[in-house]
Amino acid sequence: MKIKIYSAVLVVALFGSCRSSRQATVETPPSQDKLVMAVAWYQNSAEMTALYYQGFNMAGQRLDEAVARNQAGKALAVVVDIDETMLDNSPFETQIINNADFATGWKNWTTKASAKALPGALEFANYAKSKQVDIFYITNRDDSERAGTLKNLQNEGFPYATEDHLLTKSDLSATTGNTSSKAGRRSKVAENHEIILLIGDNLNDFSEMFENRSSYNGKEAVTNNRKLFGQKFIVLPNPMYGAWEKPLYEYREGLSDTEKTRLLKSKLKTE
Ligand SMILES: [Mg+2]
Repeated sequence: MKIKIYSAVLVVALFGSCRSSRQATVETPPSQDKLVMAVAWYQNSAEMTALYYQGFNMAGQRLDEAVARNQAGKALAVVVDIDETMLDNSPFETQIINNADFATGWKNWTTKASAKALPGALEFANYAKSKQVDIFYITNRDDSERAGTLKNLQNEGFPYATEDHLLTKSDLSATTGNTSSKAGRRSKVAENHEIILLIGDNLNDFSEMFENRSSYNGKEAVTNNRKLFGQKFIVLPNPMYGAWEKPLYEYREGLSDTEKTRLLKSKLKTE
């Protein structure tokens, strides 16, 4: 059992997730049973708390190094994802387990603006501000959720929680052809800032080179770029949902929970 749990955490550490992948499966919420273990771990394990602190501690060190290198005084920025990176939406996952409707439930959740800051996130953001490094929030939340999102970030005390530092899903999506891609929005930030660090729970939060997971579920791209992790890319854990699910479901839409479980089991290794 321990081996299984450690394996799950390792997978989680390697891959993140994005809210958009959940939005794409509104009509087929994930199996509740599959979510219970993941949400239990995310909400209750001290290991989860430690992993977030570890990630943000590392981010602080990388930020210090970048600031020290910046003799030319360029405008520096950190790009962060929001969901399961800066804000904890796991109570909404509990609602899903309790049979809430995904689409209306998510809108109600973001409008409520009550998600809590994740461990180390607020301290890191304030530290970046103290070093005159901008934070840009690039999220695949919809434009219709901007007001609630800003309110939530402000409620939690995050700096740079302003219109010009929040890039939601439709911003510049036309530049990439992939409406879930964050590449165009990263380019927009890079027009006026040097992006020194990216933080997220989904590989798509870092670079478009991870968007195609057809080769070994995306692990090949990660291995080929291994030196960037812990350096420019800080990965946080999310076992609850994410782009990592899609190759396991063979990119098929509209699967029943039973079929999803069958496919997941078929991917488990026995040796
Ligand atoms: Mg996320």
